[in-house]
Amino acid sequence: MRAIHVSAHGGPEVLDLVDLPDPRPAPGQVLVAVDTAGVNFIDTYRRAGIYPSSPPYVPGVEGAGEVVELGDGVTDLRVGDRVAWCDADASYAELVTVRAERLLPVPAEVDLSTAGSSLLRGLTAHYLLDGSAHPTRGDTVLIHAGAGGVGSILTRWAARRGIRVITTVSSAEKEALSRRAGAAEVVRYGDDLVERVRDLTDGVGVSTVYDGVGAATFDQSLAATAVRGTVVLFGAASGPVPPVDLQRLNTAGSLSVTRPTLAHFIADPAEFAWRADEFFRALVDGVLDVKVGRRFPLDAARDAHRALESRATAGTTGLAVGRSR
Ligand code: NDP
Repeated sequence: MRAIHVSAHGGPEVLDLVDLPDPRPAPGQVLVAVDTAGVNFIDTYRRAGIYPSSPPYVPGVEGAGEVVELGDGVTDLRVGDRVAWCDADASYAELVTVRAERLLPVPAEVDLSTAGSSLLRGLTAHYLLDGSAHPTRGDTVLIHAGAGGVGSILTRWAARRGIRVITTVSSAEKEALSRRAGAAEVVRYGDDLVERVRDLTDGVGVSTVYDGVGAATFDQSLAATAVRGTVVLFGAASGPVPPVDLQRLNTAGSLSVTRPTLAHFIADPAEFAWRADEFFRALVDGVLDVKVGRRFPLDAARDAHRALESRATAGTTGLAVGRSR
C-alpha cells in the first residue's frame, strides 16, 4: 500500500511517500480502506518531536473509510461498513488497522471526506462546550482562530446554543468565514485585542476564552477573561505557553485555567459514543455545517502540513486517499 512515513523529526520535508506491506488485522482489530485521513496539529507536533514519537512511522490519528476485513472476535461490524476514527495510529495510508471499539459508524447522510477530516475537531468542540467549560445561553465567550477547524465548529455550535461568540482571525477572508459560522463579533489579533473585548462586554470580559493559539495569545486570554471566568488552553498553533505563575490567576480575577486534551474526554466508551452521536446528529440535522476547508492528495502530505502550520487553511484539513479522491 501507499503510505506516508515520518523519516525523522523535523519540518514537513521529513514526510515521504513510501510503499509498505499491507497490514492485517490482529484479533479485535478491523482493516479499513482509508478514504480520507484528517490532518491535525497533533500530527505536526509529533512530526516535529514536540510530542513523543519514534521515526520512522506512519502518521495520522484520524480518518474515515470502508471496512475491508475483520480480525478474529469482531462481531458488530461488516465488510463494507462506513466508519470513522480519531484516535488510531498510521492513518496517512491506503489501509489502516483500528481496534473495533474505536470505530464509529458514519451516518449515510455524512460523506467520508467530511467525517474523516472533522471528527477529531468536532469531538474537541463538543468537549470544549460540555466538559472543559460549560458556557450557557446568554454567556459571552472568546474563541481564538475562529475560522480554523476547531474554531469554526466551536463557534457554530456555541452560537446555536445561544452563546454570544467573539472570535479572533488574521484576515478579512477569515473574518467573513467566522461571521458565517456564527460569530457575533470578530476582532483581529493585536495590541488592542483586550481593549476590544472589554469594550464589547461593557468592561466585564468574557466568561470563557477558548485558546488553541497558545504562546501568541495566552496573556491576552487571561486579560480578557471576566472575574471568576475560565481560560481553556487547548492548543499551541503559535507555540507552547511558557510556565505560568499561578498567582497571576488571583490578580487577574480568581480565574481558572485548564489545559485539556481530547483523549481524556473520549477514553470511556459510553462518553465516546455520546459525544460522537451528538456530533454526527448535529451534522445530519444541519445544526453544524462542516465543509472540508483544504483537501490534499496523499502524496502532498508535506503541502498539507505546510498549509496548516502557516495559517493557510480555514475550516478542516484532510488528505484524499481513497475513492473520493
Ligand atoms: P486551525 O484550523 O485552527 O489552524 C490553526 C489556526 O491558528 C490558524 O489557521 C491561524 O488562524 C491560527 N494561528 C494563530 N497564530 C498562529 C501561528 N503562529 N501559526 C499557526 N497558526 C496560527 O487548526 P485546528 O482546528 O486543527 O486546531 C486548532 C488548535 O486546536 C491547535 O492548537 C490544535 O493543536 C488544537 N487542538 C487541540 C485538541 C485538544 O484536545 N487539546 C484537539 C484538536 C486540536 P488565523 O490565521 O485566523 O490566526
